[in-house]
Amino acid sequence: MPHSSKSHPSHERTLVIIKPDGIQRSLINEIIKRHEQIGLKLVGIKMLVPTTELIEKHYTLDPEWYMKTGLKSIKSYTDKGLTPPHTDPLKVTAIILKNLVKYMTSGPVIAMVWQGAHAVQIVRKLIGGTEPLSSNVGTIRGDYVLDSYTMSDGDTRSIRNLVHASGSVKEANDEISHWFKKEEVIDYKLVTEQLVYGVNMEGIF
Ligand code: ADP
Repeated sequence: MPHSSKSHPSHERTLVIIKPDGIQRSLINEIIKRHEQIGLKLVGIKMLVPTTELIEKHYTLDPEWYMKTGLKSIKSYTDKGLTPPHTDPLKVTAIILKNLVKYMTSGPVIAMVWQGAHAVQIVRKLIGGTEPLSSNVGTIRGDYVLDSYTMSDGDTRSIRNLVHASGSVKEANDEISHWFKKEEVIDYKLVTEQLVYGVNMEGIF
Protein backbone atom coordinates (compact mmCIF):
# COMPACT_ATOMS: atom_id res chain seq x y z
CA MET A 1 0.00 0.00 0.00
CA PRO A 2 1.40 3.46 -0.86
CA HIS A 3 2.43 5.66 2.06
CA SER A 4 0.32 8.72 2.88
CA SER A 5 2.45 11.85 3.02
CA LYS A 6 2.39 12.05 6.86
CA SER A 7 3.20 8.39 7.49
CA HIS A 8 5.95 8.30 4.86
CA PRO A 9 9.22 7.02 6.39
CA SER A 10 10.95 10.20 5.14
CA HIS A 11 9.25 12.07 8.02
CA GLU A 12 11.13 10.28 10.82
CA ARG A 13 13.14 12.66 13.02
CA THR A 14 15.95 12.22 15.52
CA LEU A 15 17.83 14.42 17.98
CA VAL A 16 21.60 14.75 17.66
CA ILE A 17 23.79 16.73 20.06
CA ILE A 18 27.38 17.66 19.34
CA LYS A 19 28.78 17.37 22.87
CA PRO A 20 31.26 19.89 24.37
CA ASP A 21 34.28 17.81 23.25
CA GLY A 22 32.95 17.72 19.66
CA ILE A 23 32.86 21.53 19.63
CA GLN A 24 36.31 21.83 21.24
CA ARG A 25 37.84 19.35 18.80
CA SER A 26 36.60 21.49 15.83
CA LEU A 27 34.50 18.62 14.56
CA ILE A 28 31.25 20.55 14.00
CA ASN A 29 31.63 20.53 10.21
CA GLU A 30 32.68 16.88 10.06
CA ILE A 31 29.76 15.71 12.19
CA ILE A 32 27.21 17.77 10.25
CA LYS A 33 28.74 16.66 6.94
CA ARG A 34 28.23 12.96 7.69
CA HIS A 35 24.53 13.50 8.44
CA GLU A 36 24.04 15.65 5.35
CA GLN A 37 25.87 13.42 2.93
CA ILE A 38 23.83 10.32 3.78
CA GLY A 39 20.72 12.24 2.65
CA LEU A 40 19.22 13.41 5.95
CA LYS A 41 17.67 16.89 6.18
CA LEU A 42 18.55 19.37 8.96
CA VAL A 43 15.25 20.73 10.30
CA GLY A 44 16.39 22.32 13.59
CA ILE A 45 19.69 23.58 15.03
CA LYS A 46 20.80 25.66 18.03
CA MET A 47 23.91 26.29 20.14
CA LEU A 48 23.60 26.55 23.91
CA VAL A 49 25.35 25.84 27.21
CA PRO A 50 23.04 23.28 28.82
CA THR A 51 21.87 23.60 32.42
CA THR A 52 22.10 20.74 34.94
CA GLU A 53 18.32 20.45 34.87
CA LEU A 54 18.18 20.15 31.07
CA ILE A 55 20.72 17.31 31.08
CA GLU A 56 19.33 15.39 34.07
CA LYS A 57 15.85 15.49 32.54
CA HIS A 58 17.18 14.56 29.09
CA TYR A 59 18.80 11.34 30.33
CA THR A 60 15.88 10.34 32.53
CA LEU A 61 13.09 10.94 29.94
CA ASP A 62 13.23 7.19 29.35
CA PRO A 63 12.48 5.44 32.68
CA GLU A 64 14.38 2.35 31.43
CA TRP A 65 17.57 4.35 30.74
CA TYR A 66 18.89 3.92 34.28
CA MET A 67 18.73 0.13 34.11
CA LYS A 68 19.84 -0.22 30.45
CA THR A 69 22.86 2.03 30.84
CA GLY A 70 24.06 0.29 34.00
CA LEU A 71 23.69 -3.15 32.43
CA LYS A 72 25.49 -2.08 29.22
CA SER A 73 28.37 -0.67 31.23
CA ILE A 74 28.67 -3.80 33.45
CA LYS A 75 28.60 -6.02 30.34
CA SER A 76 31.42 -4.08 28.73
CA TYR A 77 33.57 -4.74 31.82
CA THR A 78 32.74 -8.44 32.10
CA ASP A 79 33.24 -8.95 28.32
CA LYS A 80 36.80 -7.74 28.80
CA GLY A 81 37.32 -9.92 31.87
CA LEU A 82 37.35 -6.82 34.12
CA THR A 83 35.45 -6.16 37.37
CA PRO A 84 32.76 -3.43 37.13
CA PRO A 85 32.79 -0.62 39.74
CA HIS A 86 29.49 -2.00 41.16
CA THR A 87 27.36 -5.10 40.61
CA ASP A 88 24.15 -3.05 40.99
CA PRO A 89 23.38 -1.46 37.57
CA LEU A 90 21.47 1.40 39.21
CA LYS A 91 24.51 2.35 41.27
CA VAL A 92 26.67 2.24 38.14
CA THR A 93 24.24 4.58 36.34
CA ALA A 94 24.03 7.01 39.28
CA ILE A 95 27.79 7.60 38.95
CA ILE A 96 27.50 7.86 35.15
CA LEU A 97 24.73 10.48 35.39
CA LYS A 98 26.63 12.62 37.89
CA ASN A 99 29.66 12.64 35.59
CA LEU A 100 27.49 13.19 32.53
CA VAL A 101 26.00 16.36 33.99
CA LYS A 102 29.49 17.70 34.63
CA TYR A 103 30.57 16.81 31.06
CA MET A 104 27.49 18.08 29.23
CA THR A 105 27.27 21.41 31.09
CA SER A 106 30.99 22.17 30.72
CA GLY A 107 30.58 24.30 27.59
CA PRO A 108 28.52 24.94 24.48
CA VAL A 109 26.84 22.11 22.62
CA ILE A 110 24.95 22.06 19.31
CA ALA A 111 21.52 20.44 19.33
CA MET A 112 20.09 19.39 15.98
CA VAL A 113 17.02 17.69 14.58
CA TRP A 114 17.67 15.54 11.51
CA GLN A 115 14.87 14.17 9.35
CA GLY A 116 14.75 11.35 6.83
CA ALA A 117 13.95 7.69 6.30
CA HIS A 118 14.96 5.59 9.32
CA ALA A 119 16.62 8.71 10.77
CA VAL A 120 16.99 7.18 14.26
CA GLN A 121 18.63 3.94 13.13
CA ILE A 122 20.71 5.58 10.40
CA VAL A 123 22.15 8.15 12.80
CA ARG A 124 22.96 5.51 15.44
CA LYS A 125 24.86 3.67 12.68
CA LEU A 126 26.71 6.87 11.71
CA ILE A 127 27.79 7.67 15.28
CA GLY A 128 28.78 4.13 16.36
CA GLY A 129 28.75 2.44 19.78
CA THR A 130 29.00 4.31 23.08
CA GLU A 131 32.61 3.40 23.85
CA PRO A 132 35.04 4.81 21.25
CA LEU A 133 37.54 2.01 21.97
CA SER A 134 35.11 -0.55 20.58
CA SER A 135 32.99 1.53 18.18
CA ASN A 136 33.52 0.65 14.52
CA VAL A 137 35.99 2.38 12.24
CA GLY A 138 34.02 4.52 9.78
CA THR A 139 31.70 5.83 12.50
CA ILE A 140 32.08 9.25 14.14
CA ARG A 141 33.00 7.78 17.52
CA GLY A 142 35.22 5.18 15.89
CA ASP A 143 37.11 7.65 13.70
CA TYR A 144 37.65 10.76 15.81
CA VAL A 145 38.15 9.80 19.45
CA LEU A 146 39.97 7.14 21.47
CA ASP A 147 38.34 7.08 24.89
CA SER A 148 37.43 3.92 26.86
CA TYR A 149 35.34 2.94 29.91
CA THR A 150 38.50 1.86 31.71
CA MET A 151 40.10 5.27 31.22
CA SER A 152 37.00 7.37 31.99
CA ASP A 153 36.01 5.33 35.04
CA GLY A 154 39.59 5.35 36.33
CA ASP A 155 39.47 9.16 36.20
CA THR A 156 35.85 9.32 37.48
CA ARG A 157 34.52 11.15 34.46
CA SER A 158 32.14 10.63 31.59
CA ILE A 159 33.34 8.87 28.51
CA ARG A 160 34.07 11.45 25.78
CA ASN A 161 32.35 10.32 22.64
CA LEU A 162 31.58 13.57 20.78
CA VAL A 163 27.89 13.08 20.05
CA HIS A 164 24.52 12.02 21.40
CA ALA A 165 21.76 10.57 19.25
CA SER A 166 18.30 9.28 20.18
CA GLY A 167 18.00 5.52 20.61
CA SER A 168 14.42 4.94 19.39
CA VAL A 169 11.63 6.82 17.61
CA LYS A 170 9.77 7.31 20.91
CA GLU A 171 12.92 8.59 22.60
CA ALA A 172 13.55 10.91 19.63
CA ASN A 173 10.09 12.47 19.86
CA ASP A 174 10.45 13.01 23.63
CA GLU A 175 13.97 14.42 23.28
CA ILE A 176 13.07 16.76 20.40
CA SER A 177 10.27 18.35 22.43
CA HIS A 178 12.60 18.56 25.43
CA TRP A 179 15.23 20.56 23.49
CA PHE A 180 13.18 22.42 20.86
CA LYS A 181 10.01 24.50 20.83
CA LYS A 182 7.57 23.41 18.13
CA GLU A 183 8.27 26.50 16.00
CA GLU A 184 12.05 25.91 16.14
CA VAL A 185 11.73 22.77 14.02
CA ILE A 186 11.13 23.76 10.40
CA ASP A 187 8.98 21.84 7.98
CA TYR A 188 10.39 22.46 4.48
CA LYS A 189 11.29 20.58 1.31
CA LEU A 190 14.73 20.01 -0.15
CA VAL A 191 14.68 19.81 -3.94
CA THR A 192 16.88 16.69 -3.77
CA GLU A 193 14.10 14.82 -1.94
CA GLN A 194 12.54 13.99 -5.34
CA LEU A 195 15.68 12.06 -6.08
CA VAL A 196 15.95 10.35 -2.69
CA TYR A 197 12.28 9.47 -2.19
CA GLY A 198 10.40 10.17 -5.48
CA VAL A 199 8.93 7.00 -7.00
CA ASN A 200 9.99 7.95 -10.54
CA MET A 201 12.94 10.23 -9.69
CA GLU A 202 10.85 13.11 -11.07
CA GLY A 203 12.51 16.30 -12.19
CA ILE A 204 15.68 14.97 -13.79
CA PHE A 205 14.51 15.93 -17.34
P1 ADP B 1 24.68 6.42 24.12
O1 ADP B 1 25.11 7.87 24.20
O2 ADP B 1 25.56 5.64 23.19
O3 ADP B 1 23.21 6.26 23.83
P2 ADP B 1 24.14 5.77 26.95
O4 ADP B 1 22.76 6.35 26.79
O5 ADP B 1 24.26 4.40 27.52
O6 ADP B 1 24.95 5.78 25.56
O7 ADP B 1 25.00 6.72 27.87
C1 ADP B 1 24.90 8.12 27.75
C2 ADP B 1 26.28 8.73 27.82
O8 ADP B 1 26.81 8.51 29.12
C3 ADP B 1 27.30 8.12 26.88
O9 ADP B 1 27.24 8.64 25.57
C4 ADP B 1 28.60 8.43 27.59
O10 ADP B 1 29.01 9.78 27.34
C5 ADP B 1 28.21 8.30 29.07
N1 ADP B 1 28.48 6.95 29.61
C6 ADP B 1 27.70 5.86 29.46
N2 ADP B 1 28.24 4.79 30.10
C7 ADP B 1 29.37 5.24 30.69
C8 ADP B 1 30.37 4.63 31.52
N3 ADP B 1 30.31 3.36 31.88
N4 ADP B 1 31.41 5.38 31.93
C9 ADP B 1 31.49 6.68 31.58
N5 ADP B 1 30.59 7.31 30.81
C10 ADP B 1 29.54 6.62 30.38
